[in-house]
Amino acid sequence: MTIRTKEQLNDFVKETVAHCPVTDIHTHLFAESFGDLLLWGIDELLTYHYLIAETMRFRPDLPYEQFWSMTKQEQADLIWQTLFIEHSPYSEACRGVVTVLNRLGFDLSKRDLNEYRAYFRSVTAEEHINRIMELAKVKTVVMTNDPFDDYERAQWDRGIRQDSRFQAALRIDPLLNLWDTSWSKLKDQGYNVTEDLNEQTLAEIRRFLKDWIKRMDPLYMAVSLPSDFAYPEASVRGTIIDECIIPVTREAGIPFAMMIGVKRKVNPALRDAGDSVGKSDIGAVERIVSRYPDNKFLVTMLSRENQHELAVTARKNRNLLVFGCWWFLNNPSLIEEITRMRLELLGGSVIPQHSDCRILDQLLYKWDHSRTIIAKVLCDKYGDLFDAGWRLEEDEIRRDVEDLSGGTFWKFLGRPDPALS
Ligand SMILES: [Zn+2]
Repeated sequence: MTIRTKEQLNDFVKETVAHCPVTDIHTHLFAESFGDLLLWGIDELLTYHYLIAETMRFRPDLPYEQFWSMTKQEQADLIWQTLFIEHSPYSEACRGVVTVLNRLGFDLSKRDLNEYRAYFRSVTAEEHINRIMELAKVKTVVMTNDPFDDYERAQWDRGIRQDSRFQAALRIDPLLNLWDTSWSKLKDQGYNVTEDLNEQTLAEIRRFLKDWIKRMDPLYMAVSLPSDFAYPEASVRGTIIDECIIPVTREAGIPFAMMIGVKRKVNPALRDAGDSVGKSDIGAVERIVSRYPDNKFLVTMLSRENQHELAVTARKNRNLLVFGCWWFLNNPSLIEEITRMRLELLGGSVIPQHSDCRILDQLLYKWDHSRTIIAKVLCDKYGDLFDAGWRLEEDEIRRDVEDLSGGTFWKFLGRPDPALS
């Protein structure tokens, strides 16, 4: 049906974006079969590292070590008291908790943590996964799977029960960022490697990667990289990328996902909350994607300053798919600015958002908040077309929104969306 008025247009776009099921291409969530790796519930929500960093700003009197020595529930109580009772929770991470509690139907006037806790104790993980995914309208999430993590490796070794809503991504940070300590872990797993990157070691790294691709069937191979990431580079990282990552991902037909721009541990006392951001060299991205036109690359960058040049680089290299507003960029003002710019430069050949959720319940707020912004930007873009005399069919808008919600990702992979089969 053709849309006749701008009012109809806005209503239809908002409705379509709000209800279109999404593929969440990068999370730290796990299927139920991974046991303790799946985090959910109010105490996990409140002790999210974003909120720990924010709490510490209001409590300069509290020694870091004292905070870390508390139980999780004590930490959650302190965070709730500091960020939600003594101050108003309008930072994006705090607002997220409010959105989650509201969407789960809790009484927000009482602000009673124990009442919320009682609910989470009353449901099973399975029930909660179903409820959250349904409410968030997320059909598929991509996990972050680490073959260097002993607990996780044990889960894969005992044979994971498949849940097609949870897809794997092979995360290889230790291989590229911590070779001086991770080579011995490869050795422990039965690979004949030495710290020195000789031919045999490189061949064994390739064998390690192929074995894990076979075991996990990952949608892509991923790494987070520091803001000083350089390419090409005569270094351990540069060598492993050229000799192992590139040939293995090309042969497997999977993208290499690079998340670039982290400054690790600028405040180690904050632990997971102690990482920061740095502007990176877009030249490194340009050089790697253009050197390997037969490889596919998914790239997101952490610094706001890199976003425009990253979108331009994608215009020049069709083997590069830009995704998401990562971590410190996952704030409404920045999501809006970045999404607007990307749609203007790249049309629908982009993945506007991923959630990066660490806690299952966060799917509710990360997607609610992002959908509102994506709809707002799309209304403006379609509105401009409308003013120029272009009339849209409802089916055309539906198609576009499906692409932005995961269709573009699956087409880039060259795989069918499992939720549609
Ligand atoms: Zn992440």
